[in-house]
Amino acid sequence: MSFIQLSQLTKAFKNAETPAVNQIDLKIEKGEIITLLGPSGCGKTTTLRMLAGFEQPTSGSIYIGDRVVYDDRTYIPPEKRGIGMVFQDYALFPHLTIEKNIMFGLNKWSTRAKKERAKEVLELVGLDGYGKRYPNELSGGQQQRVALARALAPRPHVVLMDEPFSNLDAGLRERMRYDVTTILRKADKTAIIVTHDQKDAFAVSDRVVVMNEGIIQQIASPREMYRCPKNCFVAQFVGKTNLLTGTLCSDMKHVDTYIGRVSLPEQSQFPVEDVRISIRPEGCRLAENGMYSGRVERVTYGGEYQEVEVRLGDQNVSSQPMVVYAPIEQEIEVGSVISFDITPELVALVEA
Ligand code: ADP
Ligand code: MG
Repeated sequence: MSFIQLSQLTKAFKNAETPAVNQIDLKIEKGEIITLLGPSGCGKTTTLRMLAGFEQPTSGSIYIGDRVVYDDRTYIPPEKRGIGMVFQDYALFPHLTIEKNIMFGLNKWSTRAKKERAKEVLELVGLDGYGKRYPNELSGGQQQRVALARALAPRPHVVLMDEPFSNLDAGLRERMRYDVTTILRKADKTAIIVTHDQKDAFAVSDRVVVMNEGIIQQIASPREMYRCPKNCFVAQFVGKTNLLTGTLCSDMKHVDTYIGRVSLPEQSQFPVEDVRISIRPEGCRLAENGMYSGRVERVTYGGEYQEVEVRLGDQNVSSQPMVVYAPIEQEIEVGSVISFDITPELVALVEA
């Protein structure tokens, strides 16, 4: 059995038309770092709060470490679930020192043990010697690490973090992605992190759970999620993509689309002949005499690459042009014709 198991977990708030979380099944192994990724309102926080015990599910069950903490006959309160929670706004007590903030969750320990543990976790998060300061004397990234230290102090089985990076600016955000995962790995914790940001999710997790409208869309490693999105929602939410309709050829290795025949990375069984494919912009490589060509409508400099919008062959003017990434050193003029090839590894058959 997995370390954490959610089965058919559902939360329907009163007066809501559809459940906030709708029959989700999720298994998490010990030591894994998982992210729940999805747009605002898709049910991420509600899922986390049900796991922590702050929100009563409508139905389903939750197991943590071989123990049922919620089902139709059981409700274990938050403080007995062995969970450490880091809230989106960190929720540090402003009138308490960092040390006292951390000691707060250890109420049954002796004062000496509390102090020792506070010192230990402050060391773990790289804030040795900050114990006597107050939260407002620390930077955002340091407060974040205190919140994590406080969550880790009682030695929880699981750490839950709700949007831990959303209050940080770009540079610090990258740094904290690295720091948080390093700390979690060092402490050998199982963690579930909520985020609406694909880059956060890819940078920190072993596996990503993409949700939309209360339903799990796909569970996969970042690499697999990017290369083999299961459906149109995932393909578009996780990075940029070109979605094309087409017909699967009888060899099951190609799809005929309006831009021509596109090769698939592998032979694909699909229940229907009319299919959709996702082609990543970086899978389109500019090449002289490439297989596909079209007129450039727009070029946007993205820093690491240029995003080129190309209208191909008989592509309807009202439809979206293809998006292709080109190296920045290449000069590309609007109105010129470019040609490119498509790397099959960045093509995927997707469900509607
Ligand atoms: P996310 O964290 O993915 O942005 P939430 O889990 O917070 O989404 O919310 C999912 C849905 O449930 C939203 O439609 C939200 O409005 C609704 N919701 C969340 N909390 C409550 C509540 N306490 N009462 C009623 N509706 C709620
Ligand atoms: Mg939320």
